[in-house]
Amino acid sequence: MASYKIEFNKDECIGCGVCASQCPETWELIQVNGEQKAKPKKTQISENEYSSNSEAADMCPVDAIKIEKITDRRKIVDEFEEDLDV
Ligand code: SF4
Repeated sequence: MASYKIEFNKDECIGCGVCASQCPETWELIQVNGEQKAKPKKTQISENEYSSNSEAADMCPVDAIKIEKITDRRKIVDEFEEDLDV
């Protein structure tokens, strides 16, 4: 089964909440320095979660969400561990 990586540009996010409404399993809204921002609950999703996340990415008004198919599992593990430090 395919897996996908979520790439999120928090600097671009305007905190509109569309992603959290469309896909609450993966997206939530948090306060960052008094501003509302989206936050992914995970950085890697399964094929079953792809559709709702892809729709959230398409609906984002500032293109802050990208969903990429994972092809190299070791590379993704490394990036996932890096993402946890953010
Ligand atoms: S839809 Fe885009 S701009 Fe709106 S909260 Fe989500 S990531 Fe941010």
